[in-house]
Amino acid sequence: MPDTTTPLQERHALYIGGAWADPASDARIDVISATTEEVVASVPEASEADVDRAVAAARAAQDGGWASSTPAERAAVLNRFADAVEARAGAITTAVSTQNGMPITLAEQFESGYAVGLIRYYAALAGAQELEERRPSPLGFDSLVRRQPVGVVAAIVPWNYPVTLAMTKVGPALAAGCSVVVKPSPGTVLDSFLMADAAAEAGVPAGVLNWVPGGRKLGAYLVSHPGVDKVAFTGSTAAGKAIAVECAKRLRPVSLELGGKSAAIVLDDADLPSVVEGLHFASFANNGQTCAACTRILAPRSRYDETLQALEAFATGLTVGDPLDRATQVGPVASQEHRARVEGFIARGTERGGRLIAGGGRPDGLDRGWFVEPTVFADVDNGATIAQEEIFGPVLAVIPYDDDADAIRIANDSRYGLGGTVWSSDPARATQVARGVETGTIGVNGYVIDLNAPFGGVKDSGLGREFGPEALAGYQQLQSIYLPAGD
Ligand code: NAD
Repeated sequence: MPDTTTPLQERHALYIGGAWADPASDARIDVISATTEEVVASVPEASEADVDRAVAAARAAQDGGWASSTPAERAAVLNRFADAVEARAGAITTAVSTQNGMPITLAEQFESGYAVGLIRYYAALAGAQELEERRPSPLGFDSLVRRQPVGVVAAIVPWNYPVTLAMTKVGPALAAGCSVVVKPSPGTVLDSFLMADAAAEAGVPAGVLNWVPGGRKLGAYLVSHPGVDKVAFTGSTAAGKAIAVECAKRLRPVSLELGGKSAAIVLDDADLPSVVEGLHFASFANNGQTCAACTRILAPRSRYDETLQALEAFATGLTVGDPLDRATQVGPVASQEHRARVEGFIARGTERGGRLIAGGGRPDGLDRGWFVEPTVFADVDNGATIAQEEIFGPVLAVIPYDDDADAIRIANDSRYGLGGTVWSSDPARATQVARGVETGTIGVNGYVIDLNAPFGGVKDSGLGREFGPEALAGYQQLQSIYLPAGD
């Protein structure tokens, strides 16, 4: 049952093993509004003993029948879960926007609508699966290829899109018959209690979904837990590398969705008004706190001044304010520490010739909340810190280039390779440029992550793929049974 005994702001129980259970310790997480800087809720923080219980419950669910459930049963559970999440959409989006500053209109799109779509997408894939395939061998006999769930999954998620990034793991994991222990970031925990209510209401079998809110230490404990069979991580490259080492020690499969410093390549035939309109989402979505954000804008020298003017007008024209106000286009960044980090990068922006053409400070009239003005630096050398490091805030670096080959060279001169965009009035030309960019995903004249296509990074942006049927394969273990000839 959903926890209806206590208001969301004062929860006392954790969702483990299909029930609301008392936490093992009395540690709590204060939930702070990015807009008011006030504590708006307090929820229990899981401890190592809670993780032990959650992993044991997830294992019991595997052994108790979920691993051997039919595709139709998995699809039905996922569809009921999607319905229950959808029924809580308003509360979920308000919780996310309050915590991390995401404009509410974006939260409605990506933290409820998109997340529900993702669960339903995997429900459909789950239902359509053939778990056993008889395959003829060129050697004259047949093999039976079986797709089995990999087992207990540790899903570790960041604070920027907490619901969707949990569902990118939960959807395919449940479709494959795995059970999951989700560890949300302490920066966004409130929504996880609503998601657990949804799981309870939907009758997700006990232990198939568990939530253990907590910080890095708890995440590290979960990653190295002997009862975990796979780790699915989204977060920073530094944490991802540490997790990869732990998983390597145990030969534990791991998927890593990490940071980025993606390029928007504006070709010399691009329609600038549509470029800046598109960059609102591609570069500034969620106040720049988006892994695949195009924060390097590669502008053609032949139209450089014109591009700068368009970007300056765009950045200074954005409505900055309360993320719960539907008119807001840019909200605060997620925390005080994070704003200090973003401001540290802005302070280094003029290194190697960078020139501030928009923003650079805190917006007038917003004395509370962790706001940063939408900021644009022009004339940035691609070797400068603000062109190489992930800032994770509303800060763009404009870099001039000579021709298409030069643009591709600059785009690829990065340790990351996660997203990207190419803008042109000739989509075929843009697609050809996109082929040259070393990145896991790239959009032509826009950027929206497709549910049905693999998403992930190359280089320091990660390992493995989420989304699409490819993600499902990541939660499956294959067994081949070689059948006797003539059988
Ligand atoms: P983070 O790496 O600090 O934390 C992410 C999650 O991992 C949190 O739940 C945290 O508690 C946990 N964690 C941190 N260190 C850990 C460890 N050693 N072992 C186990 N768990 C650990 O990242 P963040 O600040 O929460 O999120 C921002 C980062 O996430 C950015 O770098 C962003 O690019 C990245 N991100 C990537 C994607 C993607 O799909 N590639 C999507 C969103 C965010």
